Amino acid sequence: MERGTVFVIGAGPAGLFATRKIAAAGHRVVVFNRDIKPGGLAEYGIYPQKFHMKAGLRKQFAKTLGMPNVQYFGNVPVSSAGALSLGELRQWNPAAMVFAVGAQGTKKLGLPGEEAKGVYSAKDYVYYYNQLPPFASRDFSSGRRVAIIGMGNVMVDIARWLLQDMPGQKPEEVTVIARRGPFEVKFDEKEFDHIEMHLDRATLRAELDRIEARIRACDQDITKVPESTFPWLNKPVSGPVQGRLSFRLLTSPIAIKVDAQGRICRLTVVENLLVRKGDTTAAKATDQTTDLEYDTMIFAIGDVVDPALGLPYEKGGYLTNPDTTDPGRAAYEVFDPQTGKVLEGCYVVGWARKASEGLVGKAKYDAEQGANPVLQYLAGAAPRTAATPEEIRRELKRKGLRVVTKEDVNLLVRAEEAQAKARNLPALKFSTNEEMLAAMEKERQAA
Ligand SMILES: Cc1cc2nc3c(=O)[nH]c(=O)nc-3n(C[C@H](O)[C@H](O)[C@H](O)COP(=O)(O)OP(=O)(O)OC[C@H]3O[C@@H](n4cnc5c(N)ncnc54)[C@H](O)[C@@H]3O)c2cc1C
Repeated sequence: MERGTVFVIGAGPAGLFATRKIAAAGHRVVVFNRDIKPGGLAEYGIYPQKFHMKAGLRKQFAKTLGMPNVQYFGNVPVSSAGALSLGELRQWNPAAMVFAVGAQGTKKLGLPGEEAKGVYSAKDYVYYYNQLPPFASRDFSSGRRVAIIGMGNVMVDIARWLLQDMPGQKPEEVTVIARRGPFEVKFDEKEFDHIEMHLDRATLRAELDRIEARIRACDQDITKVPESTFPWLNKPVSGPVQGRLSFRLLTSPIAIKVDAQGRICRLTVVENLLVRKGDTTAAKATDQTTDLEYDTMIFAIGDVVDPALGLPYEKGGYLTNPDTTDPGRAAYEVFDPQTGKVLEGCYVVGWARKASEGLVGKAKYDAEQGANPVLQYLAGAAPRTAATPEEIRRELKRKGLRVVTKEDVNLLVRAEEAQAKARNLPALKFSTNEEMLAAMEKERQAA
């Protein structure tokens, strides 16, 4: 039975899969999204060339937004410091709120020189090459020698972009810098296949020799590297390729040096030991440092959530109910440490709940699991009358926000498809909000 309107904040995979489940149970859902377009990282993070995957997800999202009991308000960031705060959302009297805003904060290492030109966070960088405004229009220039910190799938995407798909001058060398060793890689073999032709086999073998004593001390057998994590070491490169990919293992950055223009020119790194920690390993810094030459550096070490949203926050995450009696419910309930109680009717799902955790499939699972306690809560709650979508839209307009509806999104999709066809491209995205809004308007007038 319908109990009122549920607000879902964030229209990435988690928000939209939660929306689908809640709307399919018969409730009205209003989705508020920071970006004009829905999709989150499926639209603006997943590698641009993964056309098939992106198209499949867009289709599912369009179907969810097309449900008659779902409303979409894009171009509406929710923030304690912005035009629309949590308190204002509450005044519209939703029956429940589901936060699916992803992990929008940046994890920093706090290195001296971190603010230098040419030093980027992976999230900003992938937003840039996936053309999310305003990142699409910012300077993310790279030079001849690029260091990527971290060795997960995001590193692979960024190396792929730099070495293969980036327009203009590509780097001569991309070096992956990782605090642990070759057995602790986090990327998937299938993903690395996209860049294996750039892997400098001889340099990687030399690197393994360089660190062998340190990983042997941790009971790891260097001869097992090809069979366990780097099968490409036993495969020849198919032909000469431009752009080398190298690894610097058991190494952590500690300081960034800048040139006269304020751009990174050198990175001071420290050598690490590998130590056992239960059934895993950890890096332990030595006092041995080296300076390496780089003109660009990208942190790909995962993200944290954005504290400015206004939910109770601690150590990079939003707080959830610590009660262990019903973890399937508690893990999704927002918890207020000041009152020692859950924030009634407030839930968190996806990367907003566990930053940088897993692929779209995992975000979907988490959203659907998280929708269960929402539905249970609604079943027991007294019916509530929320502001109507029309009232909400009017109020947002009054605040100066240019709200984008699901009908507008359909117009935008049509405009982008027409442009792509006209230019004979597999896909095209407008890279500023102004262009998107103008294209919608033009389509509306033509309709
Ligand atoms: C570089 C990269 C590549 C990836 N490649 C793959 C891949 O190939 N395959 C795969 O399966 N998975 C991939 N993933 C993982 C996948 O993108 C995530 O699992 C998934 O997007 C997480 O979904 P989410 O909805 O929790 O967060 P997000 O996708 O981040 O969505 C968050 C949404 O919330 C909105 N939002 C943010 N802040 C606010 C706010 N304050 N107010 C209102 N709205 C807000 C955003 O606009 C966005 O729409 C990749 C991730 C990254 C970073």
